[in-house]
Amino acid sequence: CGIVGYVGGQSALDVVVAGLKRLEYRGYDSAGVAVLADGGLAAAKKAGKLVNLEKELTERPLPAGSTGVGHTRWATHGGPTDANAHPHLDNAGRVAVVHNGIIENFAELRAELAGRGHGLASETDTEVVAHLLAEAFSSAGDLAESMRLVCRRLEGAFTLVAVHADEPGVVIGARRNSPLVVGVGEGEAFLASDVAAFIAHTRSAIELGQDQVVELRRDGVTVTGFDGEPAEVREYHVDWDASA
Ligand code: GLU
Repeated sequence: CGIVGYVGGQSALDVVVAGLKRLEYRGYDSAGVAVLADGGLAAAKKAGKLVNLEKELTERPLPAGSTGVGHTRWATHGGPTDANAHPHLDNAGRVAVVHNGIIENFAELRAELAGRGHGLASETDTEVVAHLLAEAFSSAGDLAESMRLVCRRLEGAFTLVAVHADEPGVVIGARRNSPLVVGVGEGEAFLASDVAAFIAHTRSAIELGQDQVVELRRDGVTVTGFDGEPAEVREYHVDWDASA
């Protein structure tokens, strides 16, 4: 339902949780976050309101990191439980993925992954993406390229945002028939389903086009099509009143 991604000099967790709060108006049934820190990936997720997640983060704090993703979920596949909340991780716990929308061919992908020995931990359509990304990364060695490969196998409408512990300064986003906006700051960058999530930090935005993948780094943003062709990027100024 709501997505936030961040890479930069601030605490990713603070930026992501504040961004999720700005997206609460959209409605949701669970929430979660993941951060890259100390060479690894740490995640927390909880059914219910954001206060449940915040309580969890107080009781079991995540390590501080400068790359992170967050999600508020509106369940379509699998009930609103902690396990079904996003982010979803691969079996090694190196990749985290958040998703808005529906992966129509998830059942077939789940069966395929189970056949290759993957253990699936949730009932969602989303989780297959974490496992497919981990597999793609082990041969491609690059998260943006892995996302392009995986997106070409997905059917449905989706916004996906992913991080990998082996690429600590990178956030990757992808979209098909579902909105995703990039926020470009000074030495930092944001991704969200709605500019409301990052308007407190920057008003410089890029609307991702259909079937595009974006790579976010502290020093810049690269956009390609799912086919790997470089895409033209048009930055615009968000001028609506943030307090509205
Ligand atoms: N289909 C996904 C799920 O049920 C994502 C739902 C959403 O857009 O929040 O987990």
